[in-house]
Amino acid sequence: MDNKQKINCTVTSCKYNKNKEQECTLEQIMVTPVQECKTTNPDESMCSSYKYNNQMQ
Ligand code: SF4
Repeated sequence: MDNKQKINCTVTSCKYNKNKEQECTLEQIMVTPVQECKTTNPDESMCSSYKYNNQMQ
């Protein structure tokens, strides 16, 4: 990534999350609007690059 942006993320159930550092390991992510959510708060957006880490159990 050209601008070296860092993605901080605390979603520890995601396979791309570096749990201890609370960082996303992807170079870029896709953020999309949550359908029919008009709260004017952060819950209107979500990470669409999320993948469940099935090694969590
Ligand atoms: S893909 Fe999305 S949810 Fe998963 S670690 Fe990265 S920013 Fe977080």
